Amino acid sequence: MAHLITPRFIFPLKDYIVNGVPFGKRSVYDGVLWGIHLGEDCLTSAGTDVFSCGRGTVVYSAFHPGTKEKPNWGHIIIIRHKQASTRRVFYSVYAHLGTCFKRINDKVAIGEPLGFVGEGETSENGFWPAHLHFAIYTGPWQNDVLPGFWKEGEKRTRPEWWECPSEFIEKYNLPKQKSVDGEASLE
Ligand SMILES: [Zn+2]
Repeated sequence: MAHLITPRFIFPLKDYIVNGVPFGKRSVYDGVLWGIHLGEDCLTSAGTDVFSCGRGTVVYSAFHPGTKEKPNWGHIIIIRHKQASTRRVFYSVYAHLGTCFKRINDKVAIGEPLGFVGEGETSENGFWPAHLHFAIYTGPWQNDVLPGFWKEGEKRTRPEWWECPSEFIEKYNLPKQKSVDGEASLE
């Protein structure tokens, strides 16, 4: 199957600030070890627009309501992309949205609105403070929602399948080194 190549990759928020849980942090909530955080959390106001980081295809879009006792994803959307320089397939994950505008199999353009950050402490965002959880996944696609944390004994994912989102985006848009005439040479 042909996957959509994205020539550029941008941040999903107009002001992308990781002021919540950073990538790779070992986190404890209510005395429970949640494990290693697989994305970056940006605390921001409910209603903040969330944009597609690149061109791609929606592979997951669903509502996972949470409760006070058991927080969850709220609305979550996952987009498959193909990296321009490496031809590698990867996924961007946007969670705790109030609404998703996109459905599975929708094609999206870079910067296209996907939804907005959900109202804090409600089931629409899975019972968390209002924030975006944003992640970059490079592992095999299982046609299912992905976890936000890696726990000891976690079978569904591996920490090495996840990249630090901020670093990934910054590296993605660096000018190519091998360019002579503006075109990347094939190896
Ligand atoms: Zn998170």
